[in-house]
Amino acid sequence: MRLEGIHHVTCITADAPRNVDFYARVLGLRLVKKTVNQDDPTVYHLFYADEEGSAGADITFFEYPGARPGRAGAGMVHRVTWRVGSEQALDFWADRLGGEGVEATGDDARLRFRDPEGLELELAVVETDDRPLVAEHPEIPEELRLQGFDGVRAYSLAPDASRQFLEAGLGFTAVAPPEEWESRGDERGGSYGYDPAPAERGIGGAGTVHHVAWSSRMEEHEAWRDRVARAGGNPTPVIDRFYFRSIYFREPSGVLFEIATLGPGFTADEPFETLGEGLSLPPNYERLREQLKDVLTPLPNPRESWTRR
Ligand code: ZN
Repeated sequence: MRLEGIHHVTCITADAPRNVDFYARVLGLRLVKKTVNQDDPTVYHLFYADEEGSAGADITFFEYPGARPGRAGAGMVHRVTWRVGSEQALDFWADRLGGEGVEATGDDARLRFRDPEGLELELAVVETDDRPLVAEHPEIPEELRLQGFDGVRAYSLAPDASRQFLEAGLGFTAVAPPEEWESRGDERGGSYGYDPAPAERGIGGAGTVHHVAWSSRMEEHEAWRDRVARAGGNPTPVIDRFYFRSIYFREPSGVLFEIATLGPGFTADEPFETLGEGLSLPPNYERLREQLKDVLTPLPNPRESWTRR
C-alpha cells in the first residue's frame, strides 16, 4: 500500500479576487472549483489545478477576508514547489513574474518567489516520468507551463521525531539530501522535507499553508486510517468532502496532514467544460445558496476574457 504523492496543498488567503488573479491569470492554473469551506460555509474554498483538476496539481485556498498576515514557523509548511519542464521554462517564468512586479530568485534548476500574500513558492526543473499536469492558458506555451507539485518543505524543531512516523507509518522513503522524503505510488510521487525552524513562532494567517494532503487509492483509504492510528497519528474519522474522502492528523513535527482519496473528483457536481465557473455547494449546504451569494466576495471567471481576445 503506497500513497501516490501529494493530493492537494491548502493555504489561507485574505483576498480571494487577488488570489484568483495570481494563481489563474499569472501562474496559469485552472480554477477548477469554487466552493465553500465545509467547516464554515460563509467563506470560500477555491481550488486551482491542471485542466482536469487532478490530484497532484491542486493548490487550494480558504478565504478569510481581512485575515492577518501569517508567518511560517515550526510545525508549518513554508514552501510549495511545482515542477517545470526545462531551464527555458524558468527563464520564461522569471520574465513573466518580473513583468508582474514579482521578485524571483534562483539558479539553473530553481526559481523562488512569493505570492501576493507572502506564501513562498518555487518552480523546479525535475527529472521524472510522472505525467505533467498542465492547464490551458493563452499566454503560456504548453512546454513552459507548471506541471504539478514536486513537493513541500516544512519547518521542524525535531525532524527525528517524524522520521519513524513518515517511514513506517506513511511508507515515505528517505531521499538525499537529508531530511527529505518521497511518497511514491504506482502513478506519481511527491516530496516532503524539513528545514530548521526560525526562532520566531509561526502565525497561521494569510499567506500560510493550512495543511498538505497525500493521495490514497479509493479502496485503500480505510486501511490508511488504521495504519495512521497504529503509528500513533490519532486520525479523525473518515470525512466525506464530496469531491474526495479525507482523514486528518498531525505528524510528529506538528504539520497538519490529510490523506484524501483519488476520487470521485471535481466533475462530481458540474461538467468538465465549466469546472469552477459557478458556486458549487455540497448537498447539505445547497439550502444556503441564496444567503451565501450575499456573503461571499464576488469573483470573476478568470477565463472569461479568453474568448474576447
Ligand atoms: Zn485538504
